[in-house]
Amino acid sequence: MLAALARLFLDAVAPRRCAGCDTVSDQSICANCNVTMSAMPIPAVRRMRHGSGFAAFEFVEPVRAALHRGKYGGERQALSELAAMTSRRLGGPRLFTPDAVVAVPLGHRRRRQRGYNQSELIAEAVADARDVPVLGDLVRLRDTPPQSARDEATRRDNVAGAFAWTGSDLAGAYLWLVDDVLTTGATVEAAAAVLARAGASLVDVVVVAAVS
Ligand SMILES: [Zn+2]
Repeated sequence: MLAALARLFLDAVAPRRCAGCDTVSDQSICANCNVTMSAMPIPAVRRMRHGSGFAAFEFVEPVRAALHRGKYGGERQALSELAAMTSRRLGGPRLFTPDAVVAVPLGHRRRRQRGYNQSELIAEAVADARDVPVLGDLVRLRDTPPQSARDEATRRDNVAGAFAWTGSDLAGAYLWLVDDVLTTGATVEAAAAVLARAGASLVDVVVVAAVS
């Protein structure tokens, strides 16, 4: 209780810092990082099994740090900012407007620990920008172990059967499946396969950053 109060007090008096470079900044992502990020190239479109993969940034600094703080440090404002940038950078003729947006869900335990799902926050922002709904019917049946240290085949086995669609038939819909980071794609491919089986005709993957 006292620790929580102390933290509240510190949050109130400590200067805000940029989620990208940790300098003192009024904005969640400072002007310098904004300039750096604007100058970054947009990664090439990646071919996926049920559509294409679109990333707004390479997974490098300061995007990496900003995403990390958004995901683990409770910096929702930084996530919204990254999502808005993602929307702008993938705007125009690069990507057609989908019928709806779906976020890659977290398992219950992880969602509870973190208090929110970073992919949902990003999905809401990109859906708002295109004025389309977010469908919340994709569920995660179990948490999968962190992917980073595993090889390709193990990753695929890990995510197989991890997702289920609980909504109505998707009747040929064109969907964007939104996540924060695209690594091997094993997770989003597993989720996209479930959406395709539920009737989606095309599932493009939209992420803030891709590991090249
Ligand atoms: Zn910065």
